[in-house]
Parts: sequence; structure tokens; C-alpha cells
Amino acid sequence: MKVTIFGTGYVGLVTGACLAEMGNHVVCVDIDAGKVERLKRGEIPIYEPGLEPIVKRNHADGQLDFTTEAAPAVAHGEAIFIAVGTPPDEDGSADLQYVLGVAKTIGRHLDRYAVVVNKSTVPVGTADRVRAAIAAELAERGANVEFDVVSNPEFLKEGDAVEDCLRPDRIIIGSSSARAVAVLRKLYAPFNRNHERTVVMDERSAELTKYAANAMLATKISFMNEIANIAERVGADVELVRQGIGADPRIGYHFIYPGAGYGGSCFPKDVQALERTARGTGYQARLLGAVEAVNHDQKTKLFELIMRHFDGDLRGKTIALWGLAFKPNTDDMREASSRHLMEALWAAGARVQAFDPEAREETRRIYGERADLVLCEHAYEALQDADALAIVTEWKAFRSPDFARIRATLKVQAIFDGRNLYDPVAVEEAGLAYYGIGRGRSL
Ligand code: NAD
Repeated sequence: MKVTIFGTGYVGLVTGACLAEMGNHVVCVDIDAGKVERLKRGEIPIYEPGLEPIVKRNHADGQLDFTTEAAPAVAHGEAIFIAVGTPPDEDGSADLQYVLGVAKTIGRHLDRYAVVVNKSTVPVGTADRVRAAIAAELAERGANVEFDVVSNPEFLKEGDAVEDCLRPDRIIIGSSSARAVAVLRKLYAPFNRNHERTVVMDERSAELTKYAANAMLATKISFMNEIANIAERVGADVELVRQGIGADPRIGYHFIYPGAGYGGSCFPKDVQALERTARGTGYQARLLGAVEAVNHDQKTKLFELIMRHFDGDLRGKTIALWGLAFKPNTDDMREASSRHLMEALWAAGARVQAFDPEAREETRRIYGERADLVLCEHAYEALQDADALAIVTEWKAFRSPDFARIRATLKVQAIFDGRNLYDPVAVEEAGLAYYGIGRGRSL
């Protein structure tokens, strides 16, 4: 099938590459000319395991093209995907300017039936607004062209995006048009070979499904952080509690890890946007407000522990950070806990020496060159002359470090384990002070 995708970010590029891999002819459009040029040269603008070979192979084979030209791209697609950003606007609602901008562009150029597929995460009712925006442009040029708008939210996880896209848990098709549903069923058939994973529903339910999924996941994290905060006050170890509750299959072990708060481009903005949607209907979503509030406080947790250890004075101190990305296997720094920690450390007069396997370049892009930030090439290099080590992202490479080597390198011998990676006893036996999240010893 001929497919067009607007937006070559995490969702658009991965979707485009995977659809091309399944034999479709995909054209990806982006307004960022620099990004399009890099992609044409075979450079992948994001770190996502497994993405590079698929993009390069399909581009070389002519199955995957990149352009800034909207008109031929709209003419190309039987299915036209919208996969542009929906960042929060000033009040936390989703900003739809990019989605509606693409809808207008489609309306300006559409000249035969196409299915417009919205993959961006958008508030309930957006499919109607996209439809209206396309129809208005068509009416303005007196064009009588049929089209359908489908809500097809994306559930890929950064770091596993290619795998998630090739083997999705479920494919949600939100549409009341049998014709559009048939087009998408055909497009997604290769992803459904062994299991039927498609759930067809109306547009509004599909739009809400995406928010409900992210809100549920964020709730699990904030719930565990709440339990961690109670655990540390009552002298319990949340890691034991986690294992204890996870054994109940109704609860399960997935996604109940306490830590330094959730970040990324999705959970913070989607919980906020859903809460604002509810408020817009006159309903106060108290649980969602609490999920946000707990996470907000949790992001200051590591800083508070560090401050307390150094008796409230961090001037002249150097803190080593392991992990900058908002989670492992990505270089995405959006809303990353590391940013909250670094900014608080700098404000308190400390220096940061940081290592991350993939996010150093992105960190440099965000903060530029500054005297109080050193980005190191190796994990142990970050420890040189540092006063303490904080673990912010749970990359596999940080899971079983050489504590004796850490002890020999750190000036002040303390580890602040923002992801509860280590056994406190093993760390303390190596002669290092240990601070974790909710481990009954942090206060
Ligand atoms: P992103 O910021 O990585 O990429 C968005 C891209 O769209 C950018 O390259 C931008 O230049 C481009 N763009 C903006 N306006 C455009 C236009 N008019 N025409 C063409 N391109 C345009 O965003 P993302 O992380 O891929 O997220 C996209 C959407 O998918 C968001 O709504 C997000 O909430 C949702 N989503 C993201 C993830 C994720 O893990 N990142 C997962 C599921 C859903």
C-alpha cells in the first residue's frame, strides 16, 4: 500500500520504517529540513535500538522516502498518517496546532479518497476537528473529495519502539467507516499473522484509550512511589514490599518500580491533558491530580537526599550522575528526572559530572557548554574527584558496578540510588553509604 506519514519523530519514523519493512511504499514528511536531509543521508536523528538498519535498508530499496514537500506526499498516500507532536500548552491541555496544521495541509492537496489516520495522542473529539479542518480546506477550493478520519493511537515504548511496532500488543482502530476500517485492517494484516490484535471502536473511545493507558501506567508508578515514601518513614523496604505484592497475579510485577519519578514526552503531558479534559467537562479527576503531584515531588527526592547528606550545603561539591535519559535505551531527555536533579544541583552551587551511554549529545544540545557540567565518555570517569554518585537512569550497564572501584574513586563515599538498582547491604559492605528510594533508611 502507498502510505504517507507526517512527522518523522519517534512515532512517525518508527511507524514509517516498520510499514516499509512489511512491503509498503512509505513517504515520510517533516517540516524540519535538517532532519529530512540527515535521514536521506542515512543518519538516524534518534537513538532507538534496531531502527537504523530498517531505515537504511528500506531507504536504499526505495520503499522509504523522506521529504519536506507536502503536496506530492499527500498525492502519494492511500493512508495518510498524522504523527506530529502534541505538546502541552500553557494550561497543560494538548496543543493541537501541529495536528490541525497537518489536517489543513492534507485538505489543501487531497484529490482522491484517502484514509487520514491520526497516530498522535490527542484529546477526545480531535478526530472531528481534523475532519472539519480537512473539509474546510476542500470546501475552500471547491473540491469534492471523499475521505475518512481514523483514530489509531500509538502504544510503542521508546527503547523498544521497533519491536513494539513490529509486534504490537494491540492495534486500536477508532472509526465508524467500514471502508476506512477495511483499509487499516489490510495495512496491519502482516502485524496480525499469529494473533488477531485489532480492536475496532468509535473514534472517541480510541482517543480516550490512549490517555487511559498512559494514565494507568503513570498511576502505577506514582502509587509505588507513595508506598516508598511511606516505607522509608516506617522503616520498611519498598523493594521487599514490591516483590510481595507483585506475586499476586491481580497486581503483577510489571511497572511497579519506585524511583526518582517518571519523565519522558508522554506520561507527564498525557496525565495532565486527561486531567484538563476532565476538568473541561466539569469533572474533577482527583486521582489524576494526585498522580501528577506525587510525581512532581518524587523528582526532587534525589536532590533532597543529597542535600541532607551534605548538611544542606552543596557549594563546591561535585556530584557524579549515571544516567541522563528519561529511561534506558533512548537518548530522549524530555522531562527526564536527571534534568530536575542537575538544575537543582547547579542552583545549589554544585558541579555535575555525568555519564549516559546515549544521551550525552542531547544533553549538550539542551544545556550547551557550561562550567558546572562535564559530560564523560565512561561511567567511572564521571567519578573522578566526585563527592557522591547518583543513579538516575537504570541502564543495564549500571546494574552491577565494581563497588570497590567506586569507593576508591569517590571523595565522599555515598551512592544515591534513584532506581533502587543495588542491594544496600552489598554497597555498605564495600564501605559506601547507601541511599535508595523507600528503603527504610533514607530519613
Ligand atoms: P517528536 O517530537 O519526536 O516528532 C514530531 C515530529 O513532527 C517532528 O520531527 C516535527 O518536526 C514534525 N512536525 C511538526 N509539524 C509538522 C508538520 N506540519 N508536517 C510534518 N512534520 C511536522 O514526537 P513523537 O515523540 O514522535 O510523538 C508524536 C505523537 O505521538 C505525540 O502526540 C505523542 O504523544 C505520541 N506518542 C509518542 C510516543 C513516544 O514514545 N514518543 C508513544 C506513543 C504516542
